[in-house]
Amino acid sequence: VRSATSELLKRGIRPSPQRIKILECLMGSANHPTVDRIYTHLVSDLPTLSKSTIYNTLNRFVASGLVRPVMVDEGETRYDAAVEDHGHFKCESCGTIYDFHVEIDTWESDELAEFDITQRDVYFFGTCSDCLNKRDGAKK
Ligand SMILES: [Zn+2]
Ligand SMILES: [Zn+2]
Repeated sequence: VRSATSELLKRGIRPSPQRIKILECLMGSANHPTVDRIYTHLVSDLPTLSKSTIYNTLNRFVASGLVRPVMVDEGETRYDAAVEDHGHFKCESCGTIYDFHVEIDTWESDELAEFDITQRDVYFFGTCSDCLNKRDGAKK
């Protein structure tokens, strides 16, 4: 199990209480929270917290490779502490975002052979199995 404090120290980021809480929130949340969600989640514990602090902290985490942005929603960035390569499936019915394993690192393209790739994202959209089952159930 990764601890937020050791992850911060490993990347040379001073583990202030706010940074630890923000990273813990991401590490514990499976569903890719937005800045607003993180704020709502933490503000009772950290009354001095502001959304711009969260935003700046997340930018720092992204720059250090601790967190990756997930741009599966138009105009709204979500954040993900699971930095190992995976794709995202967004259910257009319930809005849930699912992680799925995919070997993005092994995908190659001759056209990009001379390019420096810094981020690889895979986004799928559709209807999740829960919603499909509910829909089928409603028909019966
Ligand atoms: Zn769904
Ligand atoms: Zn993810």
